[in-house]
Amino acid sequence: MFKDALHIPFAIKGTIIHSTQTSALVILRDCWIGVRSGKIVYLQQNDNRIIEELKKHDIEEDNIIYLQEPKFVVPGFIDTHIHASQYPNCGKCLDEGMLSWLQKYTIPTEAKFADVDFARTQYRKVVSRVVKNGTTTACYLATIFTDSTLELCDIIQSVGQRAVVGKVNMDQNSATYYIEDTVTSAQETERYINEFTRKEYTHIKPCITPRYAGNCSMELMEQLGQIARNHNLHIQTHLAETTEECDMVMNLFPGHNAYADIYSKAGLLTRKTVLAHGIHLTAEERRLIRLQQSGISHCPNSNIAIRSGLLDVRTCLDEKISVGLGTDISGGYSSSILNAMRAAICTSNTIAILKGPNYRQLDYREVFKMATIGGAEVLEMDDEIGNFEVGKEFDALVIDPAVEGGPFDVFRDDTIEDVFQKFVFLGDDRNISRVYVSGHNILRNLRNN
Ligand SMILES: [Zn+2]
Repeated sequence: MFKDALHIPFAIKGTIIHSTQTSALVILRDCWIGVRSGKIVYLQQNDNRIIEELKKHDIEEDNIIYLQEPKFVVPGFIDTHIHASQYPNCGKCLDEGMLSWLQKYTIPTEAKFADVDFARTQYRKVVSRVVKNGTTTACYLATIFTDSTLELCDIIQSVGQRAVVGKVNMDQNSATYYIEDTVTSAQETERYINEFTRKEYTHIKPCITPRYAGNCSMELMEQLGQIARNHNLHIQTHLAETTEECDMVMNLFPGHNAYADIYSKAGLLTRKTVLAHGIHLTAEERRLIRLQQSGISHCPNSNIAIRSGLLDVRTCLDEKISVGLGTDISGGYSSSILNAMRAAICTSNTIAILKGPNYRQLDYREVFKMATIGGAEVLEMDDEIGNFEVGKEFDALVIDPAVEGGPFDVFRDDTIEDVFQKFVFLGDDRNISRVYVSGHNILRNLRNN
């Protein structure tokens, strides 16, 4: 029997690495972390009375996992923007810019998810892939089809991943075979929320998901805003990904001052709103987003792969806008948040090259923070997940940097911070030996699935 199975209280002794509000990288060596009923009940370094302390939390000596360095524990990664339904195209179809990419490749693929059996096969693959890559929480977009979106939720539940999942809404400017009328779109959203609630999923939340203003009438967006308010729901959409899209949207909504203003008027900018991309925003739009406390999902792989632009994350952070990372499969070609961290650094370095030496580019500590507690803030889940504060859920990864056949080498004079940095730049799923959600190692569920 594994020590972390069946909610038996357990502890891990070893090196714990996470971010806090005030520090992007905190390394705690010789640290004890206690977990009971899926939550962190104890976090302490070098405690002489540790066994007695752990017993107070019903953690027996037999249920302590000892990790030898260079192994370490980090919070689970949070993917704040991923199209589960685009996974079949992941790693291909990247020769077009965003709007033509949508029409040529993406819409035809998403339309196939009307078939629930087809959807089940594809969705199992994407959930499995991202969990292996250490994504403990994902904010998924599905398709316009309610039943196959619920199928995605069933699969996530069976694996044990934490997620926010949205049925997509579109009532204009899409192919005739993949579009809804306004009434049906709103009704199906209500049905999705009702069915979702009836299922009593443990770690999944529903999300209102207008694809973007180009695909949604104001009438529909206002109705969706009302549904979100009625049920206090998450909202996700796209914003200012490309200049071509910005021009198209402003032509569709001529009475509005700016793109973000359209979502604001529809009641779609809230504390629980995730705005994917936000590359081509004015200072006034960013001010609006900050005032409404919405967050931005930075998807740097996608932004480069389909040539949408370079998001200046530094400016967003300086302006106190929450920013998390997203893979944006399949505009982004990697399902790994480690890849998103690297792409975020590359994007920031590119801006630094363009802007000159006074620009403060992002470093590996900051992108790690964005991938963990930053993502939790964007999803308004930072009181539950994102780091190892006592009281939060134990969503974590055990990293084995020296795994046999692994993607990088560890040298004798590498410090633990060096090894962590190597993992950020060079690591992959081979280094991820356990993936905990709420204290359960869900990698085992994949093998059983
Ligand atoms: Zn997207």
